[in-house]
Amino acid sequence: MEHITLASGGSYFRSPGAATAAAISSLREGHTTYGPTEGTVGLRTALAKRYQNEGIEASPAQILITPGTKQALFNLFTVLLQEGDEVVIPTPAWFGFHELMKYSKGSIKTIETKLLDSYKLTPEALQEILSERSRILLLTNPGNPTGKVYSKEELEAILQITNQYPNLYIISDEIYDFVTYGRPVTSLLSCEGASAERTILLNGFSKSFAMSGWRVGYILGPEPVVKKCMDFQGSTFSGVSIFVQDAAEATIKNPDKALAPMLKVLQENRTIMQQALAAIPKVKFYVPDGAYYFFPDFSHYLGSNKTTGKTLNTSIELCQHLSQDFKLDLVPGDYFGGAGHARMSFAVEQPKLQEAMQRLQQALGQLTH
Ligand code: PMP
Repeated sequence: MEHITLASGGSYFRSPGAATAAAISSLREGHTTYGPTEGTVGLRTALAKRYQNEGIEASPAQILITPGTKQALFNLFTVLLQEGDEVVIPTPAWFGFHELMKYSKGSIKTIETKLLDSYKLTPEALQEILSERSRILLLTNPGNPTGKVYSKEELEAILQITNQYPNLYIISDEIYDFVTYGRPVTSLLSCEGASAERTILLNGFSKSFAMSGWRVGYILGPEPVVKKCMDFQGSTFSGVSIFVQDAAEATIKNPDKALAPMLKVLQENRTIMQQALAAIPKVKFYVPDGAYYFFPDFSHYLGSNKTTGKTLNTSIELCQHLSQDFKLDLVPGDYFGGAGHARMSFAVEQPKLQEAMQRLQQALGQLTH
């Protein structure tokens, strides 16, 4: 039996043709030297235009091009955090934030959001957790792994709380922003109450444009913060390869060409996964508004036994069982702060997706209490 993975954070789609063509011609033109640490004028201007078109005041000077969004986050954690500072993160959330924190000062404080509330961070829960120690509120919109997309009203209600804390930065990780299935993502910076001095957007090309291997992301934020990140990046990494930035620029100047066919397939795949999950008894799940994951609650199946008699007590054990006996890889929910759940990507080829869902149905059907 061939192994099938629904565990990857990347998708199977090819990178946009425009990206590949631009990179090749850039290389042919000899753009293989060091570039400016902050990023090429062309890419920063194209990105600023993208946000200006959405009614956001953005200038190229507020943008730093980074080698992936992960590095953008690491730059920010490094320049903003001191010992004792807290980064407040609604969970379930991407496990990468914890990984980065291992190498940063400060610590993570989580706020649990629930399936019952459509994984919404409520202003009340936020008010309760924020304190003078809170330095960063880190939102992910659309959510990974939940697929939750915040409405403008929901974001503005959050800003009403955060604005009571003048030392708090709000970082909005919008890396999945173009991958939505209903309403488009409202960028945090376009919300009423988003302070230009305290709001930072993170984004990148890995998800929306299937360019995870190119390593290109960016920060859009207040100039003093962006400048500090640039100095740190200049000392540690320097600038992103120019031909990669040229590829990103060609992509962002004509995003729909790459997005439309990908979103059509993702929409179909979302339906396939939704229907297959609905057919499995006792599995609860949120239908994602964005990104390309389901994060079902398999709690009913914890404490159940394999045909060998072995008991599966956690989603880690359940995922190990699926991997070993059914050659199906999912990511255990425990890694995201969602015990009993598992993350399943539907950004895979349809025959594989269908086979994966059959294996899951079969595997869960064989478990006994
Ligand atoms: N933020 C989130 C929410 C992600 O899911 C990921 C990738 N899994 C990243 C950041 C990092 O992306 P990049 O490839 O741009 O480093």
